[in-house]
Amino acid sequence: MRYCPRCCLPFDADRCPVCGKKSERDVAPDDLCFLTEQAQIWSGMLADVLTQEQIPFLQKNVLGAGITTRIGPMLERVRFYVFYRQLAEAKDIVEGLFSASEESDET
Ligand SMILES: [Zn+2]
Repeated sequence: MRYCPRCCLPFDADRCPVCGKKSERDVAPDDLCFLTEQAQIWSGMLADVLTQEQIPFLQKNVLGAGITTRIGPMLERVRFYVFYRQLAEAKDIVEGLFSASEESDET
């Protein structure tokens, strides 16, 4: 697995699938990796579960505070990052929490 420090993304290819930059190094267990992006109304729930599972994580608001006050916090989205060594575990949690509602749109 390679790692893009700009996008916080591990990937298995020559170039980062997001920014197109050539991979410079292998992913390390302590690299922060993008986990998921959720609406702010769900982010608190996800943060609670990650804390319960003792998975350290980092939250980043996508739009930023200046824009949020103008359009309202309901539209704010939050990105979650976790360490690579816990990425698989954290992804399972995200899927457990969010996949059911997303799949119901397709069927
Ligand atoms: Zn990238």
